[in-house]
Amino acid sequence: MILKTKPELCTQCGQCEKVCSRVWFKEENPEKSAIRVNSKGDGVLINVCNQCGECIEVCPTEAIYRAKNGVVRIDKEKCVGCYSCVGFCPTMSMFFHKDVQEPFKCVACGMCAKECPTGAIYLEK
Ligand code: SF4
Ligand code: SF4
Repeated sequence: MILKTKPELCTQCGQCEKVCSRVWFKEENPEKSAIRVNSKGDGVLINVCNQCGECIEVCPTEAIYRAKNGVVRIDKEKCVGCYSCVGFCPTMSMFFHKDVQEPFKCVACGMCAKECPTGAIYLEK
C-alpha cells in the first residue's frame, strides 16, 4: 500500500494534516501529521512517505521494517529516538515531535484520502 498524490488537485485546505494527527495522536495538529502540504513556487508540494524502505538499513537498532502489506513501519519497542532515519529519508517524510520519542511516518492507513475534498491523495495497492 502507498499513499499517492496529485498535487495539481490540492487546494492546501489542510484537511489531510488534521485527519492524520487526529488518527495517530488524538489531536488536530499539523506538526503531528505524517503528511505535509506546502506551497512550492506556483504549485503545491505534498510530502508523504513513498514506502521506498531506504531507511530500513539506516536504523542502528533495526527498528524499521517492511510489513506484509508493503508498508514501512517503526517498531516503537526497538526505536531509541536517534533520528538517523529522519536525517536520512530521501524525501524528508520521516517526522518527529518533542512530545514523542519515536519518529513517525505515513503507514498508508488511507484515512486522509477518505477526507480529502478534491481527490488529491489516494491509496494504491
Ligand atoms: S494515509 Fe494515514 S498515516 Fe498516511 S498520511 Fe494519511 S492519515 Fe496519515
Ligand atoms: S485534504 Fe486534499 S486538498 Fe486538502 S490539503 Fe490535503 S491533499 Fe490538499
